[in-house]
Amino acid sequence: MSHPFNGSAQKMLACPPPPVQHGDYRAQSGGHSGQDHDMQTFSGQRFSGFQLLRRAFGGHKGWQPQWRTPEPKAEYDVIIVGAGGHGLACAYYLAKEHGISNVAVIERGWLGGGNTGRNTTIVRSNYLFDESAGLYEHAVKLWEGLSQDLNYNVMYSARGVLMLAHNHHDVQSFKRHVHSNRLNGVDNEWLSAEEVKAFCPPLNITSMRYPILGGALQRRGGTARHDAVAWGFARAADARGVDIIQNCEVTGIRRGPAGAVEGVETSRGFIRAKKIGVSAAGHSSVVMAMAGVRMPLESFPLQALVSEPVKPAFPTVVMSNTIHAYISQSDKGEMVIGAGTDAYTSYSQRGALHVTTHTLDAICELVPQFRRLRMLRNWGGIVDVTPDRSPIIAKTPVPGLYVNCGWGTGGFKATPGSGHVFAHTIARDEPHAINAPFTIERFRDGLLIDEAAAAAVAH
Ligand SMILES: Cc1cc2nc3c(=O)[nH]c(=O)nc-3n(C[C@H](O)[C@H](O)[C@H](O)COP(=O)(O)OP(=O)(O)OC[C@H]3O[C@@H](n4cnc5c(N)ncnc54)[C@H](O)[C@@H]3O)c2cc1C
Repeated sequence: MSHPFNGSAQKMLACPPPPVQHGDYRAQSGGHSGQDHDMQTFSGQRFSGFQLLRRAFGGHKGWQPQWRTPEPKAEYDVIIVGAGGHGLACAYYLAKEHGISNVAVIERGWLGGGNTGRNTTIVRSNYLFDESAGLYEHAVKLWEGLSQDLNYNVMYSARGVLMLAHNHHDVQSFKRHVHSNRLNGVDNEWLSAEEVKAFCPPLNITSMRYPILGGALQRRGGTARHDAVAWGFARAADARGVDIIQNCEVTGIRRGPAGAVEGVETSRGFIRAKKIGVSAAGHSSVVMAMAGVRMPLESFPLQALVSEPVKPAFPTVVMSNTIHAYISQSDKGEMVIGAGTDAYTSYSQRGALHVTTHTLDAICELVPQFRRLRMLRNWGGIVDVTPDRSPIIAKTPVPGLYVNCGWGTGGFKATPGSGHVFAHTIARDEPHAINAPFTIERFRDGLLIDEAAAAAVAH
């Protein structure tokens, strides 16, 4: 660990999440009154307990859309490309914490329709390196108060994330993670095979090809509801004056004679802005190429699938990197199962059948009774992967252009933290201490944050 940020992780972690601010934003967003927990949207709707009860008696008729469908303005202070969780969170924090609400989030499809709405929703922060632990722990701290902050139930469920060890190397590697995490103030504990079984009784710990030798458990890890995260950030950003413009594809980035950005060409015309933040996940390298910036990214299909719903049967999130499967149970009762990336690069939002078949083989070994489950549906997303499997949240060589990408298979968990530090980077034109190591230049300078080597996989 030879990064300049070594040793300062404690300080980074000590950086508190932004306080939940009550009753301060309406002045910024046009004179609404009241408290955050009784948020009023653009349409004047309130979401207090009383209002929900009153609407329930009326059959929930008459709710208005929760965010506007505005026409793009000619100019904004900041344009964010991509209305996934990261782009929407960034817009929200720009308005909330930096007073910048003349912001457009431009989305070529529908908000949350990218990886944000396609992922298996695992949230954890037990990454090996100090820089990663700082970033993901910042996000977990925000997750813990996010429903209150957004006044939207994002269904964050700290049911624990259990990472299984199946061989001697796994045991050594996970114990190293546990020690490193504890030094960074991140909870993670080692469980013996018997303790694993006690914590998650459906697991088969012995009669399998790679028996379970133990596991690393982060109790504060868990899941959140992906759609709710996108919708919650969208509603809260919109309420602060952010324009979310859907069905509008960015087709070019215009730069002036001095090289700085001037705005974006879109399928609905040119929109001017002196600052542009790109949060386009699998298409980040495509969008960045529009400004002449070549990104160290490859895009791969990543798949997930869900079973038919059953009664509560699986108490936690289980990940097995060695036999490559991960599983949790959604609140609807479906088993949510994640597979690995395809071996080839592609922009197709569907992956190869043999990858999901392999994953189901692994699940059936881990939890033999699930052999009787029927799979309901599967889908894919396009994940943008860096050589060290850590993200890039940074300024770029182009003045006014910022990028937040490279989250690969594991960026959902970072959504609030990533949006928070990306907003800081754009507003102040300099990175937050937490994202300062996550530059593009690290691939030139060798200051890698090599979670790929640390974990083999980084969901
Ligand atoms: C199957 C699967 C399982 C996963 N499981 C997990 C998990 O368990 N835990 C975890 O932490 N992470 C997981 N991930 C990763 C996680 O989903 C992503 O890292 C994260 O959601 C990325 O969020 P985002 O907002 O950056 O991207 P997205 O939600 O993909 O948003 C990017 C948006 O940019 C838009 N866009 C692209 N190009 C343009 C353009 N030219 N103009 C306008 N808009 C554009 C897209 O339409 C898209 O809506 C998983 C991903 C997949 C696919």
